Amino acid sequence: MRRRRAAPIASAVLVGLLWAGCAAREGASARAGALDWSSLGDEAVDVLTRYLRIDTSNPPGNERSAAEFFAKLFARDGIESRIYEAAPGRASIVARLSGDGSKPAVVLMHHMDVVPADARFWHADPFGGEIRDGAVWGRGAVDDKGMGVASAIALLALARARAPLASDVIFLGVADEEDGGALGAGFMVAQHFELFAKAGVVLNEGGYIATDAETGAARYYAVETAQ
Ligand SMILES: [Zn+2]
Repeated sequence: MRRRRAAPIASAVLVGLLWAGCAAREGASARAGALDWSSLGDEAVDVLTRYLRIDTSNPPGNERSAAEFFAKLFARDGIESRIYEAAPGRASIVARLSGDGSKPAVVLMHHMDVVPADARFWHADPFGGEIRDGAVWGRGAVDDKGMGVASAIALLALARARAPLASDVIFLGVADEEDGGALGAGFMVAQHFELFAKAGVVLNEGGYIATDAETGAARYYAVETAQ
């Protein structure tokens, strides 16, 4: 999906947790209520600014650097992950929180590559991860690194809260979406589909919330059912 915009610092992480919440067992909501939302929001902004500074313009992609970024982020909280390389430098990453298996798995998916950016046409360094006027600027802030960070923070929050899960929650960051997907989603389906065999739903980019520029109020919620 090609778009060129700055992402508002509205807590996308809340959305990520709501997604992941469909995997939670009863009783988990009390633990979710105890989460420090403000601190998770700040953490999401910090992770996003650092993620945007990793140049994953496709071509050539170089998504392995992004995959290693997430592997390190998850490792700090004891979450194991695995990197799958389709070609040199062209990597995808999978991390999983296990549930009791009574419900199908939820996959939180995003693509780690971005459309190349020509700095001459930007108001900010496309790979600077700058925060300006309450927004995070950078190539991929909206498409699709913001979603990736919301998913990652959701995974971290669930792990820290030791949330009881009915289903596995799987973080999936893929390579190569902006240039056909063969070395990302295509490769994972062809070579590692067993990882997602018990998935019931994949949450991916597509829909968005349109807000009024002055009041910030939601004008409408756009839902895309497949991409
Ligand atoms: Zn996209």
